[in-house]
Amino acid sequence: MVGAMSEVDAVDVIVVGAGNAGLLAALSARGAGCEVLLVEASDRAERGGNSRFASGVYRVAHAGAADLKDLVPDDQALPWDRMEIEPYPVERFLEEVVGPAQGFADPTLMTDVAAQSLNVVSWMRDHGVRWSLAMSKLPESLQAGQTVRLSPGGELIAEGNGLALVESLFARAEQLGVRIVYGSPVVDLVTSGRTITGVVLRHADRDETITAPVTILASGGFEASAEARLRYLGAGWDLVKVRGSRQNTGLLLDRAIAHGAGSAGHWSGAHAVPIDADAPPVGDLDVGDSTARYSYPYGITVDRTGVRFLDEGEDEMPFTYAEIGRKILGRPGASAYQVFDAAGTELLEPRYATAVPVEADTIEGLGRALGLPRLTDTVRDFNLACPGGRFDPSRLDGLVATPHGQPPKSNWARPLATPPFRAYRVTCGITFTFGGLAVDTSARVLAPDGQPIPGLLAAGEIGGGFFAFTVPSGSGLTRGAVHGRTAGRTAARLVSRL
Ligand SMILES: Cc1cc2nc3c(=O)[nH]c(=O)nc-3n(C[C@H](O)[C@H](O)[C@H](O)COP(=O)(O)OP(=O)(O)OC[C@H]3O[C@@H](n4cnc5c(N)ncnc54)[C@H](O)[C@@H]3O)c2cc1C
Repeated sequence: MVGAMSEVDAVDVIVVGAGNAGLLAALSARGAGCEVLLVEASDRAERGGNSRFASGVYRVAHAGAADLKDLVPDDQALPWDRMEIEPYPVERFLEEVVGPAQGFADPTLMTDVAAQSLNVVSWMRDHGVRWSLAMSKLPESLQAGQTVRLSPGGELIAEGNGLALVESLFARAEQLGVRIVYGSPVVDLVTSGRTITGVVLRHADRDETITAPVTILASGGFEASAEARLRYLGAGWDLVKVRGSRQNTGLLLDRAIAHGAGSAGHWSGAHAVPIDADAPPVGDLDVGDSTARYSYPYGITVDRTGVRFLDEGEDEMPFTYAEIGRKILGRPGASAYQVFDAAGTELLEPRYATAVPVEADTIEGLGRALGLPRLTDTVRDFNLACPGGRFDPSRLDGLVATPHGQPPKSNWARPLATPPFRAYRVTCGITFTFGGLAVDTSARVLAPDGQPIPGLLAAGEIGGGFFAFTVPSGSGLTRGAVHGRTAGRTAARLVSRL
């Protein structure tokens, strides 16, 4: 680790931002023989960015259980004989990420990500990341079932979640001789004509210029800036809770664009989920990812007037959760209640244990306790519309309800009938933003005319054009991993040509 510029000499590659993308870019450039300096805005104790907060699910294309078994260490007691793992081909990965973007994302970028996804997690394992299966995301009753089904493509998770993930990558980076500066944000880029020649670091007492042939920006999106959220995402977004790092303010997005970078992607779009209404306003490392509230498919969600306003069963949770934050934000008071009966409560993710629900023996009593007199009518009409049939929480079960005057519930529709009844208050939590710098599959930052900006690469959330409207779980980390590794390789190529 280095603390000041005086100790930094002969740097080939500066990587800005030490999350998933930046760490992997640094490892990849260092592995190719470059002298790498990794500069990080936060201090050492908070290192790791949004990636440190992440559950650690990576979306990976694979040919079935054998591919995943190869990645997961043998010392993990996983019930492989009970696991139902179907192949997840690259084509399905693309369909599920590019399809919802409705033509507003660049398919070539995601094709590259999907095609390299299995190989990149294998490379990460070789750098010390321990993989596991995302069993912990399931309710305990489903984990104990005769068969255990994980959502296809989202089976792989970093053991120990984002925290262990980033710590293992930092350990590897230190071991390989990547030099790291903490607590010093980059506040600008240095230019010579169109070429980026380095960065300006802000220390407590002074600014410092560091030059290098290649700079890789991996400093995240703009989700942590209320002002930038309002500017790009629109009214109300300044009020949402930030699930992760306080450092991802978009400063370097703005500076790169000011120095000639093009922008790409869905700038008014973001990944935003239901989280506990009492969650801290910005990510807190002691709380981590425990405030997410993703079991809504097994109950109903009502707003503060007691009205249902979304289809809780439109698809499996990994394909709907990233849009639900926005829907809640649009309701009165930017909050809502997830309501479950006793049968639904049995299916709650383990992390609901961190919440304090309101509970009552009757729906009327619950409505009174919440101040929602309309809840009784809402639940009565919903219950009347529920069909009979076999409820299966582990997959789309086709139990559809179309209650009068309410949105449909397209799967898992069964009456809220068994007391006690519980309500969990939720609000919108932003995870990351979709708009970013224009990049190509070599991680080069492109000017508006499509030409690469000499000396400048980007990886991770700061890159735009990958996602629009929504994105299935695990895509953000995989995108950052693939593009981070690529950025390091491209940097090494550029350096050796100089
Ligand atoms: C609670 C939570 C759970 C999540 N779970 C998952 C999941 O399970 N699967 C998944 O795929 N995605 C998940 N995500 C999203 C995922 O974490 C991100 O997509 C991914 O971590 C982004 O990686 P990154 O390297 O681009 O950014 P980050 O990990 O945020 O790293 C950016 C780094 O840049 C630093 N930085 C910012 N500005 C500057 C500056 N000016 N100078 C120097 N450094 C700077 C920041 O401090 C930070 O360390 C989750 C996110 C959150 C918040």
